[in-house]
Amino acid sequence: QAKKSGKNQSVLFKQSLQLEHNVRARIDHELRKAIIKNELSLVYQPQISSVYGELVGVEALLRWHSSELGEVSPAEFIPMAEENGQIIELGLWVLKTACQTLRKWQLTASRPLTMSVNVSAGQLTDPNFLKNMTDVIHASGVDPRGLVVEITESTAISEMDNVRSLLEQLTEQGIRIALDDFGTGFSSISLLRQLPFNIIKIDRSFLKSLSRGSQDWYIVKAIQDLASALGHEVVAEGVETNQQLTLTRELQCDVVQGYVFSRPIPLKELEARYLLTPETKIRRIS
Ligand code: C2E
Ligand code: MG
Ligand code: MG
Ligand code: MG
Repeated sequence: QAKKSGKNQSVLFKQSLQLEHNVRARIDHELRKAIIKNELSLVYQPQISSVYGELVGVEALLRWHSSELGEVSPAEFIPMAEENGQIIELGLWVLKTACQTLRKWQLTASRPLTMSVNVSAGQLTDPNFLKNMTDVIHASGVDPRGLVVEITESTAISEMDNVRSLLEQLTEQGIRIALDDFGTGFSSISLLRQLPFNIIKIDRSFLKSLSRGSQDWYIVKAIQDLASALGHEVVAEGVETNQQLTLTRELQCDVVQGYVFSRPIPLKELEARYLLTPETKIRRIS
């Protein structure tokens, strides 16, 4: 009996591996055509100043609506694009599109806003990355001081040697560097002295069950104290509730990003909500 069910299980296991393989092959195949088929878009998530309650910038997040597969999450296709090298082309598309938007705001908005763009390991190790990025910036006419490049802790650690000089060269152009998902990796603290970060984004896992005096509260407080002593700005990511919002303010996080203010939304919606139109000023939101 045991033998029989073991055999069945392994058949099922093989079938699910096969299924998994087929799904991945389809995503891979469809993703290659996503740019020409015009299936990609960016959504923008507001970043709000804790002290003033005002919009200070946005994070650009990639969306893929495939005609064949429907909506595919970046958590699914970005790692695949990393593996098969498509991330380089996708990343450039993201950069171009985000720079066009930022350029428009730099010409029309009544105050400077930042545009944060995620960059992953496969992009940073591309030998043409710096040149391509510089070309995109020049072609779009954007002031690079409005740009933030977000890299995750794991990217930073795995590519440490290459990444340091690359990040320094970005910094020289006025681009700021954010350490994304901070606290989820392994050598967080030594990273801060090895790479030129300007911004630290505290991972949302710390905020999930944040309450005054809890373990996570002390961790966030320690990160905040360390970051501000080093002159880094702190962004609290994934803030969902008013309770979390109050606590991140008490802990003096500089900027808050999360569902409590807004999900990532299309450009039109963002511009309407925050009145980012040529004639009007940015509205205070709290
Ligand atoms: P990330 O850079 O850490 O982005 C934040 C993620 O958290 C986004 O998921 C966002 O929608 C989600 N989020 C924001 N606020 C909240 C909240 O209050 N609660 C919860 N539960 N989630 C929140 P998304 O858009 O699905 O992106 C997932 C990841 O995919 C990103 O994590 C980033 O690592 C990657 N990614 C997205 N767009 C790009 C891109 O253009 N290039 C690269 N290289 N990676 C990207
Ligand atoms: Mg990010
Ligand atoms: Mg993050
Ligand atoms: Mg993340």
